[in-house]
Amino acid sequence: MDFKGRDVVSINDFTVEEITYILDVAERMVPAARGEKVLDLCPNKILARLFYEPSTRTMLSFETAMKRLGGMVIGFSDVGSTSVTKGETLADTIKMVEAYSDVIVLRHNKEGAAQLAAEFSEKPVINAGDGAGQHPTQTLLDLYTIRTELGHIRDMNVALVGDLKYGRTVHSLAYALAKFGANLHFVSPPSLPMPPEVISHLEKRNTTFDIHRDIAEVIPDVDVMYVTRIQKERFPDVEEYNRVAGVFRIDASTLEKAKEGLIVMHPLPRVDEIHPDVDATPHARYFQQAFNGIPVRMALLALVLGADLEAVL
Ligand code: ASP
Repeated sequence: MDFKGRDVVSINDFTVEEITYILDVAERMVPAARGEKVLDLCPNKILARLFYEPSTRTMLSFETAMKRLGGMVIGFSDVGSTSVTKGETLADTIKMVEAYSDVIVLRHNKEGAAQLAAEFSEKPVINAGDGAGQHPTQTLLDLYTIRTELGHIRDMNVALVGDLKYGRTVHSLAYALAKFGANLHFVSPPSLPMPPEVISHLEKRNTTFDIHRDIAEVIPDVDVMYVTRIQKERFPDVEEYNRVAGVFRIDASTLEKAKEGLIVMHPLPRVDEIHPDVDATPHARYFQQAFNGIPVRMALLALVLGADLEAVL
């Protein structure tokens, strides 16, 4: 398997075997991710993180991952302080930044931005979220979380809950879960369904999926409940947002009918979809999930940068 120099634009850029390998490498990264072991797999390598949209976890965990690998980080997270405000195009910014770095991690508000950047850059470009498009590295850490918490992904019943229309995390995750042979349950308000291109992809693959409006309908059957935020910033009209804001609220009592082993995940940030009383239940996994971003992104960066993995494998 050859990962060196590859772009990561969509989760569909990877086969099941490749994803499995990335997760295997991620497992080996855990001691270094926790700071218990020093790994110098990417010395002198520079990661450029270009964040045109807000981020907490993705930005910080990429940064920590690169530093834990012995590499360095440059970049911006506030376009207001860059030449973007002078009218510089994404293509020009990318052409310049590729000369400053070895790998580019891009978050952008426009769907397709990562693809465009990859076309302009000789250096690998990693999509850290492109508008309502995809978020492939979130999906890698989501799959890693399911695999480490539940042992496997195949045949798991996974409910994707919330804003399935604009939520890029659930788009990438649905594609990936289909590849792994999970059963999907989509729970959203009628106005925020999974996009037609995702649905037709699942139909072509004969993925088992069903559609619901109410969490209670799926709770007793699911192994994973993946909750998402209503993506306020993507709504063309605030009134439309107000109509669906707060429709799904999970609290400890919602989970009374859940299987004992059900895990609740969320890419975070949460607004009001998961009540803090869920945090203390044995179901909550979202903070562990957020930590998992470090070993998974370490694995991906090491592979894309062509690091010699002998020390960890
Ligand atoms: N942090 C995730 C993302 O960037 C989820 C969210 O913002 O709701 O897509």
